[in-house]
Amino acid sequence: MTIKVETKRYLNFINGEWTPSVTSEVERSMNPADKNDVIGLVQKSTKEDLNNAVKAAKLAKDAWRKLSASQRGEYLYKAASILEKRINDIAECATREMGKTLAESKGETARGIAILKYYAGEGMRKVGDVIPSTDPSALMFTTRVPLGVVGVITPWNFPIAIPIWKMAPALVYGNTIVIKPATETAVTCAKIIECFEEAGFPPGVVNMLTGPGSVVGQGIADHEDVNGITFTGSNGVGKQIGQSALARGAKYQLEMGGKNPVIVAADADLQLAVNAVIDGAFRSTGQKCTATSRVIVLSDVYQEFKKALVEKTKEITIGNGLDRDTWMGPCASEGQLNTVLSYINKGLEEGATLLIGGKRAEKGTLGNGYYVEPTIFENCSQDMAIVQEEIFGPVIALLKAESVEEALQIANNVEYGLSASIFTTNIQHFLSFIQDMEAGLIRINAESAGVELQAPFGGMKNSSSHSREQGEAAKEFFTSIKTVFVK
Ligand code: NAD
Repeated sequence: MTIKVETKRYLNFINGEWTPSVTSEVERSMNPADKNDVIGLVQKSTKEDLNNAVKAAKLAKDAWRKLSASQRGEYLYKAASILEKRINDIAECATREMGKTLAESKGETARGIAILKYYAGEGMRKVGDVIPSTDPSALMFTTRVPLGVVGVITPWNFPIAIPIWKMAPALVYGNTIVIKPATETAVTCAKIIECFEEAGFPPGVVNMLTGPGSVVGQGIADHEDVNGITFTGSNGVGKQIGQSALARGAKYQLEMGGKNPVIVAADADLQLAVNAVIDGAFRSTGQKCTATSRVIVLSDVYQEFKKALVEKTKEITIGNGLDRDTWMGPCASEGQLNTVLSYINKGLEEGATLLIGGKRAEKGTLGNGYYVEPTIFENCSQDMAIVQEEIFGPVIALLKAESVEEALQIANNVEYGLSASIFTTNIQHFLSFIQDMEAGLIRINAESAGVELQAPFGGMKNSSSHSREQGEAAKEFFTSIKTVFVK
């Protein structure tokens, strides 16, 4: 594979202009599959840069709000068609920046395009309801108004779809935005913003700046002119952002971690379950908030399921996401690799039995990339760190249960409640799972990772602030309701 040495400098996008940080300091975006591949230099922005971006968004908000929603939607359609033309470039950049396979990055870009089109269409749909008044000569109805300036803080694991699924609804409902992507995938975000620039959004409507979370991200949460904050990322950071926003009365939405279970009932189609667990746990190297990380198998089929799961895991090819033969790429960063390896060590120390994997993968052509083997543990007890804590890597904890009721108790015995699946052919098991599983996304005979853009997305317990993203639910967050009484 040829080594690409491209050190293009990417600037912030503020008030319609590509602008360097006031300090001109930069950070490097690296390929986790190949440390020699520098994808670009991005701005290490400061509070002053943030103030400039928020000022631009604030100045632009009234004119933007006063367009019709369908006019705003037209800009999103244009951005979608530009993204469509650049799908290969942007997908390749995402793969180089965070390591997922090119097929996954292309799928994610296609999802981004579909999201833009969906919210462009939202500009033509109803925003309120007529409510019968007790006064026969009065008219009462609700309408919705934008929040104003929305701060968007995003993680690296879906560097295309997550920024778009926050920006598109924020914009169509009349808000202006300041986005701060994760530094690991800042170049991919800059390329998305180039599409927005080409679509001709008025200056100040879309602003992007890169930089440390503790400075720019926290600055967004604290800024008195940011009226709403939508965040996706880890629990610790999310809670901090929520506290800052609450203290100054700003609206906030937090989408955080998961420890997603799959229950395999004795009556399940075992091959279907094995394939879904492999995809759910190991695609994107397990770095999805909805990734499968605990598999609870009924004892009657435990041995058969375990054998098939381990055999299928042996087929996984690890490599650079740009190579066509790769099924699973590297962890997205050295820090992420170290986190995964330290959880594997904790699992061993706490007495779990390693069935497969468990090491950094560095054989053959893998070179200096941040690769880890797909890993499965058994003999896991419920108090182990690998059973309780989000690892965000390709690690499965296998647990055994004697009944679906017991499996549900185990599944619910964590602080998270994002996504959960059951594999069964029994209608009673379906029903009790739907009723008793504490998760925002309930999936039956389907892998735990998977979302459709038109349906509400979000979690219970410590997985989210209990609002929902996507589909019609996005309207709830990105607008305020006004109740109007006309006499
Ligand atoms: P992270 O919390 O480290 O970072 C997320 C974003 O917050 C980044 O842009 C980062 O720069 C910024 N940030 C960091 N410190 C900050 C601070 N003090 N104040 C404000 N912003 C700050 O998360 P990550 O490592 O990028 O992403 C992985 C996490 O994201 C996992 O926990 C995963 O479960 C979660 N995630 C959740 C969802 C969901 O929808 N529930 C989706 C994807 C990822």
